[in-house]
Amino acid sequence: MRPTFSFEFFPPKTAKGEQDLWQAIRRIEPLAPDFVSITYGAGGSSRDRTIQITQRIVAETTLRPVAHLTAVGHSVAELRHIIGQYADVGVRDVLVLRGDPPGDPMGPWQPHPDGFTHAFQLVELIRSLGAFTIGVAAFPEKHPRSPDWDSDIRHFVAKCRAGADYAITQMFFDVEHYLRLRDRVTAAGCMTPIIPEIMPATDVRQISRFAELSGAAFPEDLAHRLVAARDRPEDAYKIGVEHAKAMAEILLAEGAPGLHYITLNKSAATLDIHRAVVNSSRSLHVS
Ligand code: FAD
Repeated sequence: MRPTFSFEFFPPKTAKGEQDLWQAIRRIEPLAPDFVSITYGAGGSSRDRTIQITQRIVAETTLRPVAHLTAVGHSVAELRHIIGQYADVGVRDVLVLRGDPPGDPMGPWQPHPDGFTHAFQLVELIRSLGAFTIGVAAFPEKHPRSPDWDSDIRHFVAKCRAGADYAITQMFFDVEHYLRLRDRVTAAGCMTPIIPEIMPATDVRQISRFAELSGAAFPEDLAHRLVAARDRPEDAYKIGVEHAKAMAEILLAEGAPGLHYITLNKSAATLDIHRAVVNSSRSLHVS
């Protein structure tokens, strides 16, 4: 089977952000990706925007949207209602996540009194509601809250067995982390495809933010090169794109089932990476 390729967007906060998002979506649409995904905000209006953007993608584009959904702050009844809203507009693909405590991703997890504690419970719920395609999260450097690899892999495999069709990884910058995770999951007898997430690191100012959000280790060599190019944005852009392209090529050669690009609602870097990967591998289909 040919590898899939897909793109991730987030719900913007401003009118300008909304404009950038739709410009990126329109640029990516002609490539006919396998799907695009829209992240689910920490609360309130950003969640409504996730739902609205997902619905608009269905109504106004030829793209297949995957809606992220988290259990944060929701009762089971609310989660059922959101799934119903998606189903009403024809969304059949959900990326199911537990989520993090709002405000402090590493703070103590507080389940809603009538909600869920772990992602596998939401997977079970959605599986019971209809013929949805379900994705889950995977962590090449282990989930930051997992005390050890054994429990991390055990819970990941249980989440897959609860009804996941595939997983998408957290961002990472060293291919070895992905390969080790894949081998650990396979050794545990789980064959769920794990799609690596590709994040173009084109600006040194992003690095600490990445680490804070994802816990992903950032290669020293790449950090040094980005720091050296700090006042030359075009060079920094090339460095980030080249690193991501090289990672993507190795991942495909290693048999990764696809590539999921984080766009940050901008199309340029991801499109440059994707086109370069397509040119060198020809294994991804682009119309
Ligand atoms: P879980 O699978 O519940 O795992 C969380 C922790 O609990 C892990 O340490 C796990 O080992 C442990 N665990 C699992 N089951 C059990 C059990 N039965 N007993 C004890 N421990 C257990 N966040 C957002 O808010 N919005 C998004 O849109 C979003 N998109 C994401 C997309 C991707 C591809 C990824 C990788 C992450 C995304 N996140 C998003 C972040 C995610 O919500 C957090 O990383 C969260 O901390 C973990 O979610 P999970 O679904 O892996 O949780």
